[in-house]
Amino acid sequence: MPRSEPIKAARGVHDILPADLPRWRAAQRAAEETATRYGYEEIITPLIEQAELIERIGADTDAVSKELYRFEKRGTQNLALRPEATAGVVRAYFENGLNQGPKPSRLYLIGPMFRYDKPQQGRYRQFYQFNVEVIGGGSPGFDAEVIELAQEWLTEVGLQDLRLEVNSIGDSRCRPAYLEKLKEYYRPLQSQLGGDSQLRLERNPLRLLDSKVPHEQQFKQNAPKINDHLCEECAAHWSMVKRLLDAAEIEHEVNPYLVRGLDYYTRTVFEFYPGGATGQQDALVAGGRYDGLAEAEGWPSTPGVGFAGGIDRVTEQIDATAIPPRPAADVVVLPDGELPLEAAEVARICRSVRSVAVDYEPKSLAAKMRLANRLGAKWVVLLTPDEASRRMARVRDMSSGAQEQLDWAELPTRLA
Ligand code: AMP
Repeated sequence: MPRSEPIKAARGVHDILPADLPRWRAAQRAAEETATRYGYEEIITPLIEQAELIERIGADTDAVSKELYRFEKRGTQNLALRPEATAGVVRAYFENGLNQGPKPSRLYLIGPMFRYDKPQQGRYRQFYQFNVEVIGGGSPGFDAEVIELAQEWLTEVGLQDLRLEVNSIGDSRCRPAYLEKLKEYYRPLQSQLGGDSQLRLERNPLRLLDSKVPHEQQFKQNAPKINDHLCEECAAHWSMVKRLLDAAEIEHEVNPYLVRGLDYYTRTVFEFYPGGATGQQDALVAGGRYDGLAEAEGWPSTPGVGFAGGIDRVTEQIDATAIPPRPAADVVVLPDGELPLEAAEVARICRSVRSVAVDYEPKSLAAKMRLANRLGAKWVVLLTPDEASRRMARVRDMSSGAQEQLDWAELPTRLA
């Protein structure tokens, strides 16, 4: 029989290995602790949703139009792997009656998202997000609160050097008139725009402002700016968000080109980048207000604001040396010879106070000691057939090299 090729992981996904996990867990723990400090409760929603939920609210975004993992008809429903969390969290909020409870609901979610993205560093097909949502709160205080929470999370995982960009994109009262102005400005330039931007000009002109095409950048400079065209309510909201950020001493840059392409996004949008990064770099956290989302999903009109932070990207920014490595096991039990029953019993005794691994393989004691060193064990418990028969063992302190013979019953006290 010809040997078959080993089967590798699907394209664009990545394994999170034990060596990565201290950083990964640090990012996740900081997320949970920060969210909890701000009074947010955890919610877990399914990884699959009805495709229509995602498609209805995101038809014009890449995450949905090009990147959605969709199953054709399982039973009676078309399903999709969620590409982001907010749609599902808002669905769960109404479907489970959280809208009948105290308002707003402060919720957070940590979990995997799926997008058929072009795989590259920091861009995966399965990636993990920390999502924070305030549903049922329209005040600018909530916008500033989620921004502060995001910053605190990033700072807590050791990312001090950050750039925060903010903007206001108005709402359904002021944005339509602005979009007309934007189209008027761009129409004479149409022939100089690339294919994507030509399409956006009539369908989704706001997205012209976040074009990444180099030769289109010059056009932005003179384009009308949305935050100069806000209605009174949006302008007041925007001004209060900025005052709140100033009062919290959160440094921010207003980027008039920071936009979201969908109608249900309103007012505040923001993104956090690593400090040294230039404009093209991917954001660590992206968020904003979505006062039109509930209605777009078919629920009563309800304001909301939140963000999504990329745990993979944040983990990649954490300095590995800042987190001391944890040994896989504090104690390694090394039987000298075949003593599986005795070794298992000694391990069980030691496990009452410490993490313990046992080396059952018939290897030389020297080889076993090398393994104990590689695991980073603090102690080795050596067992010879003679000692084992008397229920004795030798404990070796790996840092000092000191050895001591003990009764098995004394091990927990010695190792505690
Ligand atoms: P978005 O939902 O596209 O606004 O993304 C929010 C955050 O999720 C981004 O700032 C990234 O940190 C992270 N993110 C988005 N897409 C990916 C991806 N394909 N791979 C890894 N992280 C991602």
